[in-house]
Amino acid sequence: MNTNQEIYLDYQATTPVDQRVLDAMEPWLRDQFGNAASRSHAFGWEAGKAVEEARTILANGIGGQPREITFTSGATESNNLALLGCARACKERGMHLISARTEHKSVLEPLEALQAEGFEVTWLDVDREGHLKATQLEAALRPDTTLVSLMHGNNEVGTLHPIHELGTICQQHGAFFHCDATQTFGKEPINVAENGIDLLSASAHKMHGPKGVGILWIKSRPQVPFAPLMYGGGHERGIRPGTLNVPGIVGMGEAFQVTHESQSAEQNSIRNLRDALWEKLESIEGCTLNGSSSSRLAGNLNVSFKHVDGEALLASLEGIAASTGSACTSAELAPSHVLLAMGAESATARGSIRFSLGRGNTAAEIEWVAKRTQEEVKRLRELSPLHKMAQETQ
Ligand code: PMP
Repeated sequence: MNTNQEIYLDYQATTPVDQRVLDAMEPWLRDQFGNAASRSHAFGWEAGKAVEEARTILANGIGGQPREITFTSGATESNNLALLGCARACKERGMHLISARTEHKSVLEPLEALQAEGFEVTWLDVDREGHLKATQLEAALRPDTTLVSLMHGNNEVGTLHPIHELGTICQQHGAFFHCDATQTFGKEPINVAENGIDLLSASAHKMHGPKGVGILWIKSRPQVPFAPLMYGGGHERGIRPGTLNVPGIVGMGEAFQVTHESQSAEQNSIRNLRDALWEKLESIEGCTLNGSSSSRLAGNLNVSFKHVDGEALLASLEGIAASTGSACTSAELAPSHVLLAMGAESATARGSIRFSLGRGNTAAEIEWVAKRTQEEVKRLRELSPLHKMAQETQ
């Protein structure tokens, strides 16, 4: 193992663009630069055709219709659009919404903005592994509930929600179900019709596509009521106006195809590497697994080491790229809102480290990461007065 090499274990933050995706995008960044909305010449027709091909690939992959896909700048925009667009359009029917505290900030914050507009949000509790039960959702639903937003796979701790059961309950109660599938799109099987999903968000850069492109899928039969957030040239059926990012959209279609084709084989091999890493870390005294032990994203391993600060450990693991909490919040040194919602103590919520594995990781890398983590946990504990005190009082 070449120790000077950077080992990337932060695939849940973002992924490198796959060579096949780059190749598919390149012509659309060079000669084929047409505006997909230009109707009067071949430059525009060709670009429009490429966009429709990507739309079809993405829709087919989740069992939806191409016209139900709206291209966005990524999942943050898709989540904002889904929540603000649908909740406001359903205002006359009811102003009660349901979600969970373990959602991504791009779901929590639009919901908080809706609360400030007079909507009421019921926040479902999760257990210590980040799970919530379908019966909890059933108990929270009311006649005036219009929208439920629950993610598929958690970006910090990897826990998977039972979207089929959640979607079925929403359908039975006539509430729309929005699912943030950013971490599972292309990687886990999702069928919008079978899972009772009405709105679905996803992003290209979590599956080896380019950054700055995503989708919001909105069910059309029956049509989910929707109020756009922006006004302009009528692109994307008026839901999201603005000149389309043709290279990005082509890249997202290709990235989905590549990831989806090898879905179960690739996810299984990533899971095996993740399990190998856990097996080694588990043997370190005072190491705990955060998140689900039974239903979890293949590449996610979120762990805490007693008396070891996550930031200090990360800084000492030179040459290993991992994260504490989610990348979007790692600029703040605040404890993880996800771990706190799961009932973790503040020290655990500050002390966790997320290794997220993906395409390209090797067994040799995992071996090296486990060895370095063992060494650094030991070293940091030797420097920790808290650890020393705990040892002495044993
Ligand atoms: N939802 C989840 C679950 C995520 O993990 C992320 C990315 N961290 C987002 C939404 C936001 O995605 P994007 O980076 O495409 O805006």
